[in-house]
Amino acid sequence: MTEQHLTPDAGADLVGPGSVASWTERYGHALMDTFGAPQRVLVRGEGPYVWDADGTRYLDLLGGIAVNSLGHAHPTLTAAVSAQLGTLGHISNFFASPTQIALAERLLALADAPEGSRVFLTNSGTEATEAAFKMARRNSTGPAGPRTRVLALEGAFHGRSMGALALTSKAAYREPFEPLPGGVEFLPFGDTAALEAAFAGDAGDRVAALFLEPIQGEAGVLPLPPGYLARARELTAAHGTLLVLDEVQTGMGRTGTWLAHQHPHLGGGARPDVVTLAKGLGGGFPVGAVVAYGERAATLLGRGQHGTTFGGNPVASAAALATIGVIERDGLLAHVTELGAWWREQLAALGHPLVTEVRGEGLLIAVELTAPVAADVAARALAAGFVVNPCTPSTVRMAPPFVLTREQAATFTDFLAGLPHDLGTGAGA
Ligand SMILES: *Cc1c(COP(=O)(O)O)cnc(C)c1O
Repeated sequence: MTEQHLTPDAGADLVGPGSVASWTERYGHALMDTFGAPQRVLVRGEGPYVWDADGTRYLDLLGGIAVNSLGHAHPTLTAAVSAQLGTLGHISNFFASPTQIALAERLLALADAPEGSRVFLTNSGTEATEAAFKMARRNSTGPAGPRTRVLALEGAFHGRSMGALALTSKAAYREPFEPLPGGVEFLPFGDTAALEAAFAGDAGDRVAALFLEPIQGEAGVLPLPPGYLARARELTAAHGTLLVLDEVQTGMGRTGTWLAHQHPHLGGGARPDVVTLAKGLGGGFPVGAVVAYGERAATLLGRGQHGTTFGGNPVASAAALATIGVIERDGLLAHVTELGAWWREQLAALGHPLVTEVRGEGLLIAVELTAPVAADVAARALAAGFVVNPCTPSTVRMAPPFVLTREQAATFTDFLAGLPHDLGTGAGA
């Protein structure tokens, strides 16, 4: 047997060197094509910056899609994960760990969840949706008989498993995989009259759950109109329907409050029955959660009715606790609010003819363009050293690390200012 000479950096020893071009070539022969060719192959990060395999640096204004709240290679997160892995890395859910319990307690506290509330820990947003969907199915009988209806909104994104996909509206994602779990109806986005109509009459008592994102992320950073969520709460409460808020993208400080619905203008003071979390929760470590508010929601999934091998594992829990701890210690919620407001104003004040609107909350920001050139803008941005995301043909999304500074943000504003005015008209560059 050949002796392996692994250094402490054993993973890196098995990787070896390569350029962006050579890695991209190898990617195409080893990975499924679900994501298409990678834009770059990245090897390292620090704070809000990442470097590719050719040594080129980028300002990461997407943060792994609203995940890397603390930036890359944050020393506190690195230390917490390393210490936990070096102490107790994984157990089964036949056992519990102090980190898992402390995390659940912290989540209940920052969610303002009442007595009787409980948490289920997962590894991803999709799994959090899946658990919430199963909770909806357990909200099975109402005064009008079986509750078979589940409501979601057009434009909604809740994940890609069969259950989560059933709640995701995009036809291109759904259609190749039908039949999906049944009973889901999509309502026009932000339309209060349509929502009221869906709850009218006896049929209103057959709605098991209503799934909402306080701000639709994938659809282009679209906040629910003022008053919508409060009305949704009234209707769902009146009909015994679970109000499920998908805060996978908007939660954990992304919008400047721990949860987006805690903004009075977004949530209207409404308390949900269920909140799903993931993305920013672990600061880059995969972890998700379902928070069930109050005893009724918290007991919908009984003993043996749901499970997971990895969910709530000690390392993921330690990562989430460290992320929460750093956000609190460094006052990052206030920074997110302040920087986000300043930056959105700066971007809007550019008055670039290509930009119709700058919207968002905290550091979840969209720049809406006058033409379907978001992919072109994102490609130019990448070439200029910025990672952003064309989440719709005409929308550029930013969800940067909370540690971003004004100076760093302003470099992208300058980039945007320098974009040709006639992009997309066929006349220009
Ligand atoms: C990303 C996302 C999900 C899915 O989370 P994964 O961790 O990718 O499974 C669900 N809902 C929303 C709103 C999201 O943004």
